Amino acid sequence: MDLGIRGKRGLVCASSKGLGLGCARALAEAGVDLVINARGAEALEAAARAMREEFRVQVTPVAADITTEEGRATVLEAAGEVDILVTNAGGPPPGMWHDWEREDFIKALDANMLTPIALMKALLPGMTERGWGRVVNITSQSVKAPIAVLGLSNSARAGLTGYVAGTARQVAGKGVNINNLLPGIHATDRAESLDKGAADSQGIGIDEVRANRAASIPAGRYGTKEEFGAACAFLCSQHAGFIVGQNLLLDGGAVNATL
Ligand code: NAP
Repeated sequence: MDLGIRGKRGLVCASSKGLGLGCARALAEAGVDLVINARGAEALEAAARAMREEFRVQVTPVAADITTEEGRATVLEAAGEVDILVTNAGGPPPGMWHDWEREDFIKALDANMLTPIALMKALLPGMTERGWGRVVNITSQSVKAPIAVLGLSNSARAGLTGYVAGTARQVAGKGVNINNLLPGIHATDRAESLDKGAADSQGIGIDEVRANRAASIPAGRYGTKEEFGAACAFLCSQHAGFIVGQNLLLDGGAVNATL
């Protein structure tokens, strides 16, 4: 399917690895010129090089911490006019409900709620003026079904979801669509480090943790970043113009709910 977005300009945050990289690669394959971002320069530059060679699009890597004001300013300056924004950042650390103090919440809110909001605030005016735009926020299945050890994620992402629900309906009439993608378990570095933590705390091997988690998913496996990226590219496509303020769960059926 031709996604109809060749030549558009996209910004994909936190995208040298994992789900962000999956989104960047799928957009590059659809012909979108990109600004990509991560804190570490090495993997970021390698990802940019690979996309340029494979997909013949422009890819500008910007090494910066997207959760800081300075980092966002650097990325936004390099990006200029943006038609497609994919927001993403690292997820908060695991723990239990009684572990977190105010400072822990402020950090999680900064990274997983206020950063995507700041990016939308900066880029939505240009999109609405030009009459076309797409925003996809990478959130989590924890928005639909809380994950006990990820209370910081449950909280911060719920806040972002509320903001998107209201904002998406205010810009839809200007050709701008905002939606959220909710990953369940995907095989990325983040999943690897959460599995390692679970293995240590349960006193079992990481392979056993992986097998148990995979068995808890109706699809019987972890998702891939390629599948995730393809869903993102569709939401950024010309065909997604009537999809407004939705929360699309990509979890292999893990959340047991009718809606
Ligand atoms: P990942 O494999 O650890 O990759 C994270 C990417 O983001 C890396 O490129 C990393 O590069 C970059 N990054 C992290 N913090 C950043 C920051 N402050 N500024 C700029 N770039 C940053 O993680 P992932 O699995 O793709 O997860 C992406 C998001 O989805 C996270 O918020 C995670 O909580 C959420 N999620 C993931 C899963 C899953 O199963 N994988 C499930 C639910 C939700 P640098 O380290 O070099 O900055």
